[in-house]
Amino acid sequence: MNRPDLSPYGDSPSRVSVGWLENGYSFPQGEVPDKFTERLFRICLKSRKTRGFHLCPFCPQSAKAKTYFYKGKNISFGSGEIAVRGKRWKTYVAPDLIYHYVVEHQYKPPGEFIEAVLHPRRFLTFDFAILAILLCVGLLVITFNHLQLATILLMLVPVALCFLIIIGAIAIVRLRKK
Ligand SMILES: [Zn+2]
Repeated sequence: MNRPDLSPYGDSPSRVSVGWLENGYSFPQGEVPDKFTERLFRICLKSRKTRGFHLCPFCPQSAKAKTYFYKGKNISFGSGEIAVRGKRWKTYVAPDLIYHYVVEHQYKPPGEFIEAVLHPRRFLTFDFAILAILLCVGLLVITFNHLQLATILLMLVPVALCFLIIIGAIAIVRLRKK
């Protein structure tokens, strides 16, 4: 099955395919930043294992799994999927073999995917940081007896919490949807 880059992956409109290369279909080639390949490798190390095993369609010895030596271990790629979050709720879904395609077949993924790998979105952590700052400021203000301002700030906390719960629920639904 050929999935062109940035075509929808599954039913969710925010999930798009990257790196599902097939024999007989051309793919973009070119140089990518070293930092990108390093980060991509780390992401592929934590791939979600799927059923079945994919072999590289371009290597002559395609019967062999793609194995890389890392920290004293042999790591095989071909039975996992990675999901990288990009801008505006977009998630790029790729096979873990993408690392092999980039390194050994000079595959150049779309620029927005490279950007997403280089600058991962950590919006939940960011939201928690804002919440923590709000709480601290609220407590500080109470300490200094500016009660009116403290009330306003503390009212923001449940709003922020609701926001977090909604974001968390959406994230869980999106993770389960495949
Ligand atoms: Zn190959």
